[in-house]
Amino acid sequence: MTALPPLREVIAQYGLSASKALGQNFLFDGQLLGRIAAIPGDLANAEILEIGPGPGGLTRALLTAGARVTAIERDRRCIPALDELAAFYPGRLRVIEGDALDIDARSLFEGTPAIVANLPYNVGTALFVRWLSADWRPWWRSLTLMFQREVADRIVAAPGSTAYGRLAVLAQWRAQARIAMTVHRSAFTPPPKVMSAVVHVTPIDAPRGVRFDVLERVTAAAFGQRRKMLRQSLKGVPGAPAALDTLGIDPTRRAETLAVDEFVALARTLSN
Ligand code: SAM
Repeated sequence: MTALPPLREVIAQYGLSASKALGQNFLFDGQLLGRIAAIPGDLANAEILEIGPGPGGLTRALLTAGARVTAIERDRRCIPALDELAAFYPGRLRVIEGDALDIDARSLFEGTPAIVANLPYNVGTALFVRWLSADWRPWWRSLTLMFQREVADRIVAAPGSTAYGRLAVLAQWRAQARIAMTVHRSAFTPPPKVMSAVVHVTPIDAPRGVRFDVLERVTAAAFGQRRKMLRQSLKGVPGAPAALDTLGIDPTRRAETLAVDEFVALARTLSN
């Protein structure tokens, strides 16, 4: 084969009609896919873990940029199309059929891959929180993930905004998170109901002495009752009222007024 067939032909050839149940909304625009693939930086010989390649549009863009890609796809119908892509790029694409939620992706790499994914909302958010909970510094170099715009806003939100919550704190306490680009719904086939955005996350040094599970518990309690004062919402977290006092955090404040650093300080006090 001297050239790859256009993606729409691949879809027709392998009968890859988009499945709603699998959250399939495909991207075909090569220029747009190239811009997404450029977000993690120079990919020459870089290791990439791609989750949910589908018919392989983004995979093509990553390979064109010089990456070595390991792709995990749950939909068996897509595997022959991906195998064809692997044959076109010998030794550069490893295709794994399976559910990314069940696979220990870390064990697939010796180095530190960049992760790239365009996934359905529920799977994307579950994997995102899992990747953020890794031992730090994590086994991945960066995360470049397509989300619904509203979820992307929650990840990068600043204190005081309605979007600020558990996801913002978990994403920002030891990583930098930014919206790298927004993607119009009409770019997808079929178009989803809402707009999308690509979030790029890179790890930074973790604050010392803080346990992830404790931070998770504190943020879940605080934002679980976000309209309530901290003294009420953190009642069920042992030691929290005393920790607020020690740290000089006014217990009549509400969760959304606390900076990420203040949540970190609370979790540190409770991690001892
Ligand atoms: N990356 C392709 C693109 O941009 O055109 C496809 C994106 S589509 C929104 C999401 C893909 O993730 C689908 O191919 C779907 O089958 C796959 N997928 C959904 N859940 C998955 C899971 N748990 N593990 C692996 N792949 C999954």
